[in-house]
Amino acid sequence: MTDFPKTAQIIIIGGGVMGASTAYHLAVRGVKDIVLLEKQPHYGMGATGKCAGGIRYQFSTEVNIRLSQHSLPMLDRFADEIGQEIDRRQCGYLFLLTNEAEVATFRQNVALQHSLGVETEWLSPDEIHRRVPPLKVDDVLAATTYHDDGLADPHGVVAGYIAAARRLGVKSFTDAPVTGIEIGKDGSFTVQTPHGAITSEKIVNAAGPWAAKISEMVGIPLPITPVRRQMLTTTPLPDLQPDFPFVIDFAQSLYFHPEGDGLLTGMSNPNQAPGFDESVDEDWELVHMEAAIERLPLLARAGRIAHWAGLYEVTPDAHPIIDAVPDLDGYYVVAGFSGHGFMHGPIAGLLMAEIILNGRASTVDISSLDYARFAEGRLIQEHNVI
Ligand SMILES: Cc1cc2nc3c(=O)[nH]c(=O)nc-3n(C[C@H](O)[C@H](O)[C@H](O)COP(=O)(O)OP(=O)(O)OC[C@H]3O[C@@H](n4cnc5c(N)ncnc54)[C@H](O)[C@@H]3O)c2cc1C
Repeated sequence: MTDFPKTAQIIIIGGGVMGASTAYHLAVRGVKDIVLLEKQPHYGMGATGKCAGGIRYQFSTEVNIRLSQHSLPMLDRFADEIGQEIDRRQCGYLFLLTNEAEVATFRQNVALQHSLGVETEWLSPDEIHRRVPPLKVDDVLAATTYHDDGLADPHGVVAGYIAAARRLGVKSFTDAPVTGIEIGKDGSFTVQTPHGAITSEKIVNAAGPWAAKISEMVGIPLPITPVRRQMLTTTPLPDLQPDFPFVIDFAQSLYFHPEGDGLLTGMSNPNQAPGFDESVDEDWELVHMEAAIERLPLLARAGRIAHWAGLYEVTPDAHPIIDAVPDLDGYYVVAGFSGHGFMHGPIAGLLMAEIILNGRASTVDISSLDYARFAEGRLIQEHNVI
C-alpha cells in the first residue's frame, strides 16, 4: 500500500460506529491528521453491522437516558447533517412485563424517565391487545412504550460518518489489522499493521468486542468481554400491521421488530459462555423460535430468510468506558457499550472528541463512565439490557 502513512496525530483503532463517529467528530472540529484502521475488508462488519438497529430512550440510569437524549436527535438530523439516509423509523419500543418484580423495577425506571422529560407510557394488557392484536398477552401484566424509540440503519450510520470524515481529510484503511503497539521512551505509540508501522501521540481504542485485546497490547487491562448474540429475519408476513413496534418480552430477552415485509427476531441466551465464536447456535435458535411463536403465533407461518450471530461487548455494569485512561498518557477508550451501543454511537464519538481536544467531555456529564470505576467499585448497573 503506497499511501500508507508513517505518522499521524491520532490513530483510531476500529471502524465500527464508535471509531467512525469519533473520526468524524474530531475532523469536524479541525483535527487534520487522523488515521482510522479497520481490520475487516469493509467498515461496520463488527458488532455494529450485526446489530438489530434499535434506538431507544427507555433506560434505567440517568446517564444512559441522557446519552439517548443527545444521540437520537443526532440520528434524526443525520441525513441533513451528514448527507446519508439512515432509514430512521419511529415505531416505538414496547417492553412487555410478565412478573411483579419487573413491574416494580420498571415503575422506578419510568419515574426516572419522566423526571428527565421522556414521557414513557404504561399500557394495560387490554390496551396492548388493542394496539398490537397479533401478540399473545395472557401472561402479560403491563407494558411500557415510548413513541420516539425505534430503528435506524447501522450500515448507513457507519458509511455516513466514514464518508464525511474522509471528506474532511481523515485517512481510513480497511484490511488494516493492528497487530501490535509499542510505546516509545517519549510516550509515543507505534502501531504495527501488515502495511507498515504508524507512530502517533494519541491512540483511540474503538475496537468494540475486541477492545480488551487491543488494550493488552499497551498493557492496560480492560473489563470488556465478548458474548455471542444471534438473530434471524423472516419471509414476508402480510398480516403484520404497518405500525408494528419494536416488541421486547423483557423476562425472556426476546424481541421482534419490522424488517422489510417480515420481522427480525432475536433472543439472548442467558447461559451463553463468553468468547469470540460468531457461528449461529442452531440449538438456541430452536429454543428462541419456540418462545417467539408462543408470543407471536403468526410467526409459525413465516420462513427464515437469514440468520447470523455477532458479539456484545459486555462490561461488569453494562455501561461503556468513554475516557482518557489515567495510567497511560495519550491512550483513549470508547468501548464496552454492552449490547446497546449503536444508538449511542453519535454522541459517544462527539464526547470522545471533546475529551481528546479539551481534556473533558462537556455535552453530557459522563464522569460516571470513567475507566477507574471498576477498580474503585463505583459500578452503575443498567437494568434494561436485552
Ligand atoms: C446481535 C446484536 C444486536 C444488537 N442490537 C443492538 C440494537 O438494537 N441497538 C443498539 O444500539 N445496539 C445493539 N447492539 C450493540 C451494538 O452493535 C454495539 O454496542 C456497537 O455496534 C458497538 O460499536 P463499536 O464501534 O464499539 O464496535 P464494532 O462495531 O464491533 O467495531 C469495532 C471494530 O474494530 C475492528 N477491530 C477489532 N480489532 C481490530 C484490530 N486489531 N485492528 C483493526 N481493527 C480492529 C472490528 O473489526 C470492528 O469493525 C447489538 C449487538 C449485537 C451483537
